[in-house]
Amino acid sequence: MQVSTIKADCLTCGFWHYRPWLGDFSYGEGIAQGSFVTGTGETFAYLNVLNNSGWDRLRVLAEGLETDESFFQWLVDQCLDPISGVSLGSGVRCPECDSTDIKLHEGMPTGRVEIPEATFTGFLSLDPHEQQTRVVELHSVWGDEYQ
Ligand SMILES: [Zn+2]
Repeated sequence: MQVSTIKADCLTCGFWHYRPWLGDFSYGEGIAQGSFVTGTGETFAYLNVLNNSGWDRLRVLAEGLETDESFFQWLVDQCLDPISGVSLGSGVRCPECDSTDIKLHEGMPTGRVEIPEATFTGFLSLDPHEQQTRVVELHSVWGDEYQ
């Protein structure tokens, strides 16, 4: 879909880029960004979590686990389909140095860009039991690495 872009300055390394921006009225919508780790931080996708069967399914599966919102956000990142082999994540990061200290020039669109929709097709193709197993496995990974 077509979205506006705005300029974003990295306050850590000085790198700047144009990134998709949804405006001020974007409840339930977000931009997923490619992983800096794989050198593809300028890959973006549109994520709409309203009436999203993948998102809803993850909500249900995460409900039974002892967890918090930061786990859920991370879980979503792990379960989004890669775009052209690029894993997606949430949050605003510098494509050059991975810093989250970014100044967004909101309200000053620089143009428009076509970005794909972020989807959970791979996760949803698992049967319900496999989905649950996957979420429990990821919860264990998260507990080991992020707590
Ligand atoms: Zn940077």
